[in-house]
Amino acid sequence: MGDLSGRRALVTGSTSGIGLAVARALAVAGADLIVNGFGDLAEIERIRAELARNGGDVRYDGADMTDPAAIETMMAAAGTVDILVNNAGIQHVAPVDEFPVAKWDAIIALNLSAAFHTTRLALPGMRDRGWGRIVNIASTHGLVASPGKSAYVAAKHGIVGFTKSVALEAAVHGVTVNAVAPGFVRTPLVESQIAAHAAETGVDPAAAAAAFLSEKHPTERFVEPAHVAALVRYLCSDEAASITGTAMPIDGGWTAR
Ligand code: NAD
Repeated sequence: MGDLSGRRALVTGSTSGIGLAVARALAVAGADLIVNGFGDLAEIERIRAELARNGGDVRYDGADMTDPAAIETMMAAAGTVDILVNNAGIQHVAPVDEFPVAKWDAIIALNLSAAFHTTRLALPGMRDRGWGRIVNIASTHGLVASPGKSAYVAAKHGIVGFTKSVALEAAVHGVTVNAVAPGFVRTPLVESQIAAHAAETGVDPAAAAAAFLSEKHPTERFVEPAHVAALVRYLCSDEAASITGTAMPIDGGWTAR
């Protein structure tokens, strides 16, 4: 698969879960990296050093992706960005009439508006160089809905629409823009939903996880972070130059039902 050495990738929210798996896959492919996200600084330095062992230059920028000014500072410090993976995201589950206003605002800011800000700042350079890859980590909830997730579903449907629009603007310049739409991946974001479901229904966490899978995934397996990362890595390769404006399900069959 495509050798990404000499390309610099920014992966937002790459200190955990899917973003970390994407950063690992791009580092193995030879890319230089900017890692972003929250967490314990010693652990983040361990991640940075691990990624750098693949030979690329790896930097960390802890910008809060809900803050447009912090995003501008991060993008200015980043310099060239050839590959942009908009991944940072959060979830909150509540009925719409009980949804905390601050949670709505935070989800829209992080899961949708952050990608607007990184994209508007990264795209001109990609266009000038005639090569770029933007991959937005959407969700099955960018394609279908579940109750209790109005903010997340709105943001993820929004990012799918944003992906298509920017793909059309960028297509002639050698820049592809795609979304990937994972089903349930067992990261901290989903562990907290499993724990909440277990507490609500009085079952143990293993039974709650099994219930999630039997309701949504015909495979009855979680999607692996490394599988999402492999798809992202492919979309970043030269071989994927003709794929743009898509939202690719990687969901164990969820959206085939
Ligand atoms: P995660 O909680 O493991 O990781 C989230 C990352 O985002 C972390 O690195 C965290 O530090 C970072 N982050 C959170 N708030 C931030 C902020 N304000 N600024 C910068 N970074 C911030 O979650 P995950 O499951 O790996 O989710 C990653 C993406 O994948 C999200 O966009 C999520 O919606 C999407 N997704 C997840 C699943 C799933 O089942 N886990 C399914 C579909 C889509």
